[in-house]
Amino acid sequence: MFRRIYLDNSATTQVDPRVLEAMMPYLTEKFGNPSSIHFFGQEAKSAVDKARHQVAGLINSRPNEIVFTSGGTEANNLAIRGILESQPAISNPHIVTSVIEHSAVRNVCEDLEKRGFSVTYLPVYENGIVKLEDLEAAITENTVLVSIMTANNEIGTLQPVAGIGKLTRELRSQGRKIWFHTDAVQALGKVPVDVEEIGCDLLSLSAHKIYAPKGVGALYVRRGVRLHPQNIGGHQERDRRGGTESVPNIVGLGEACSIASDELETAAESSRLLRDRLESAVGEDIQGVVFNGDRERRLPNIANISFTSIEGEGLLINLDMQGIAVSTGSACSSGTLEPSPVIRAIGRGDDLARGAIRFSFGRFNTYDDVEDLLRLLSSCVKNLRELSPARTSSATK
Ligand SMILES: *Cc1c(COP(=O)(O)O)cnc(C)c1O
Repeated sequence: MFRRIYLDNSATTQVDPRVLEAMMPYLTEKFGNPSSIHFFGQEAKSAVDKARHQVAGLINSRPNEIVFTSGGTEANNLAIRGILESQPAISNPHIVTSVIEHSAVRNVCEDLEKRGFSVTYLPVYENGIVKLEDLEAAITENTVLVSIMTANNEIGTLQPVAGIGKLTRELRSQGRKIWFHTDAVQALGKVPVDVEEIGCDLLSLSAHKIYAPKGVGALYVRRGVRLHPQNIGGHQERDRRGGTESVPNIVGLGEACSIASDELETAAESSRLLRDRLESAVGEDIQGVVFNGDRERRLPNIANISFTSIEGEGLLINLDMQGIAVSTGSACSSGTLEPSPVIRAIGRGDDLARGAIRFSFGRFNTYDDVEDLLRLLSSCVKNLRELSPARTSSATK
């Protein structure tokens, strides 16, 4: 029997049945608007409050530091634009970010650049991690915001966020107006994410990466940080994000956060087992593979592997035909496949960048999933290499 295996949990996850169950009443009889004064409104409002506590519990913040948004992308936009627009008095504001940010940070920074802000993109090295020295050197008198992700979405590398938080806090204690935002969408639920340990001012998260629905997320905003709202309307979210709250989705996000905090260690351990099994078998059985990203400082659930002399998309499609879902980091722009900028940023040449595949594990994967993948993977790679015009230069490690 044809069985589909989902190994793309960094793109999105299946809604956990416990999350769905928590949401159901708010899709049916508990349909009130949290802004209404009557019973229905109060019921909805207390559900949103509960979710706010659950989200805060997972990241060790205060509940009133959580702003619900429509997802990770909106949280990033609100953080970056919101900070810059809250500081109109600063001339020539400067942002420091990295070359491996998700498009929801990178493209916002590029847009701001077009509008006259200056942006420094910190490099990463072969290990896929930014250096604190580079950050220190990049900060100028005009630097208002540092935005560096907690964990990368393609190679899973963990960035030195606690060091960045310490640095920006020190500068602020000297009276500087500088804030630190981190996109923690991929890190949440995989490694401990604690806003006090990180020392960030703003932190983005998204529900659909942690077994809750798409279209909801949150931004942590440290008490005292002023943020110009991007969605202007009603007074929801203490005037930081107008619009009627997506109550069922917010309830789902809250429940997903509770589950993630209860199961953090076991989830990390079981993903790590599957990931390590995949990597060690691939390393032994397949010639011409390169593992991308630091071996230690990374999430437990992502393996990013470059296969020489093949196109990642070819392998993706071949695996998909056999029921296995994985991803490449490539972006299809104007009909041509651009190799992943993240794989390029860690110094891989064209061949390795084009042949990169991300396998990302999650709560519902089993050991059998990996064994089934391994049964197919070497023959897929072999077949594609035989078809490849570049096969004469292949199989070098
Ligand atoms: C998925 C993702 C986002 C975007 O979140 P959405 O809720 O899909 O808008 C942002 N940053 C990272 C690192 C992601 O993986």
